[in-house]
Amino acid sequence: MTEEHPAELQSIIKRIAPGWPELLEVGVGWYPLLAKLDRKLSHIAPHYVVQQVKSKYGALCFYADPSAEPASFDIAFTDAIRAAEWESTETCEECGAPARQYVIRMWLSTLCARHAAEARGRHSAP
Ligand SMILES: [Zn+2]
Repeated sequence: MTEEHPAELQSIIKRIAPGWPELLEVGVGWYPLLAKLDRKLSHIAPHYVVQQVKSKYGALCFYADPSAEPASFDIAFTDAIRAAEWESTETCEECGAPARQYVIRMWLSTLCARHAAEARGRHSAP
């Protein structure tokens, strides 16, 4: 996860709060989803801050607040994040194609059929 992030994600990286690593720990297939979410959130809360963006149990986990104020809350902001997290469970984390969730080696992943087959092949190699 040390590769350069594309320009469309730099605006999320810039919002990562002090003390949190400047990382987006998700596969490239979800990058367009993140870029779309960032555009939505910037519109709702222009000064929103991000703590963490990662993949957990095959779903996007996007931890952010509408502002740096403690306990700030905005229902539209929260709804936009929930919608993107839901969308991630139907989007291949490798390529962005329509996907479903697979358990591969006890690890839950959201992948298209092709990437699921690849992941299985990789893991079953000796
Ligand atoms: Zn795929």
